[in-house]
Amino acid sequence: MLKDLLDEKKCFKLVCGAGNEDAEEVEKLVTIYSLAGCNFFDLCAKPEIVDAAKRGLIRAGITQDRYLCVSVGIDGDPHITKAVIDQESCVRCGKCISICPHDAIIELDKYKVKKKRCIGCSQCAINCPKHAIQMVSQLQDYNEVLPKLIEKGIDCIEFHAISTDEKDVMEKWTQINGLFEGMLCISLDRSELGDKRLKERVEKMLSIRKPFTTIIQADGIAMSGNDDQYGTTLQAIATAQLFQNANMSAYIMMSGGTNKKSMELASLCDVHPHCLAVGSFARKIVKEYLLSDDLFNNSRKMAEAVEIAKSLVNIIVKD
Ligand code: SF4
Ligand code: SF4
Repeated sequence: MLKDLLDEKKCFKLVCGAGNEDAEEVEKLVTIYSLAGCNFFDLCAKPEIVDAAKRGLIRAGITQDRYLCVSVGIDGDPHITKAVIDQESCVRCGKCISICPHDAIIELDKYKVKKKRCIGCSQCAINCPKHAIQMVSQLQDYNEVLPKLIEKGIDCIEFHAISTDEKDVMEKWTQINGLFEGMLCISLDRSELGDKRLKERVEKMLSIRKPFTTIIQADGIAMSGNDDQYGTTLQAIATAQLFQNANMSAYIMMSGGTNKKSMELASLCDVHPHCLAVGSFARKIVKEYLLSDDLFNNSRKMAEAVEIAKSLVNIIVKD
């Protein structure tokens, strides 16, 4: 069970991307990483993406001890935003195409964002010289979307509570609690709230939960872990340390800017999370294989991709 993996600190979560609606890529990611030993998968909250992940598990021939989580956000959460280009302001310089880490921008008769591939990292908007790109929230109605996903047999719902609107956070959290009885995850970082308010918020959210039925996802800087550096993982460790020191009756997961160096640095800081979640870095190291059209029919390529994925997953899940 997922709870056992967390208790044993043997949980590795692959973040396919809360905004990643590319079903083909998700199927490839889940196939590669489940074969590499990854046991927990974070998915965009869309039925077709949960189906894609399940196809990936079937392709890998793995039906047990793999757990699926869907992520839902709140207004202000970067994970559920999509880039939109204002054609009036765009001067067609091409900078956004070269900077997008997820190949989500294409040049046709005009520059366009492929919504399904946009993961909301904001890199294009930050770097556009004409400020022609806006990040637009894609808030979903939980009552509409979650029952369909629960019916499909998900194991966890992750709530991105990165917002200063306390009332909205608690209302949505209560709503999710009313819809799902299984493991819930709260994703929070220190970007909007100071340590004191962050701790108070989580304590309040946990007050309506039974002990150890919740994972606190201690986020660093979302989608910043493209490279294998100590620096990008630092904030996730600091956030995890805050929750660890607070001794809450919940599991702690590190995420956001995480990579192969995260657990080593966490250990040096005496931070010992129950789970490591990796997104941007995990996707980047197998990108070449994700772009391959014949991955599923080419056993050599698949074996190579799995070996690369294993070099990351093995940090948590040993052979
Ligand atoms: S970076 Fe901005 S101005 Fe340049 S092509 Fe992209 S949207 Fe247009
Ligand atoms: S750079 Fe990030 S936000 Fe912009 S289109 Fe690509 S994935 Fe989306």
